[in-house]
Amino acid sequence: MCLDFVNTLDDRFTDHPKELLASYRDLARFAEDAGVLSHQPVDHLCAQSEKSPQPAQRALKSAIQMREAMSEVFYALAREKPVPKSALAVLNHYVQQAAQHARLVPADGHFEWQFDPAQDNLESPLWPIVRSAAELLASDQLQYVRACASPTCEWLFLDESKNHRRRWCDMTKCGNRAKVQNFYKRQRNPT
Ligand SMILES: [Zn+2]
Repeated sequence: MCLDFVNTLDDRFTDHPKELLASYRDLARFAEDAGVLSHQPVDHLCAQSEKSPQPAQRALKSAIQMREAMSEVFYALAREKPVPKSALAVLNHYVQQAAQHARLVPADGHFEWQFDPAQDNLESPLWPIVRSAAELLASDQLQYVRACASPTCEWLFLDESKNHRRRWCDMTKCGNRAKVQNFYKRQRNPT
């Protein structure tokens, strides 16, 4: 989920990146689509963002700053480069902020993490997103974070395939497109 969040700056490495989080509403809807906030609090947050546009704008700015820090960290890892300390510091700032809104609640004989009610705080969509990043960074799944091999895509994804040799974020889109391009290249330059 945190990798999908990084992908909300589409065409990131081109001259014309597409910002998919253009408004606070986009941020809240992302959290709903990702399944981390439910419909009702998201509706409430969207209404709230219209009533208080400045705090909403600040929350959106924070979300984008957090996303860019996550992007630097995960692309560095995917490309086996050192993780920039400044990006990790920004990410840790948001990890700590989210932790201030987290608590343990009993659930079916064990305990689970729960955040403060989402509708009360415009920054609430950030908390589960940054926790997802923190959990991935602290897990043994981290080695399977990849950047899509298609030069026109480069989306981040988690390679959960059996042999961990997946190269494209989506085989039906990026993978086939790359294969078709290779095919045409071979046709044009027969060796
Ligand atoms: Zn791709």
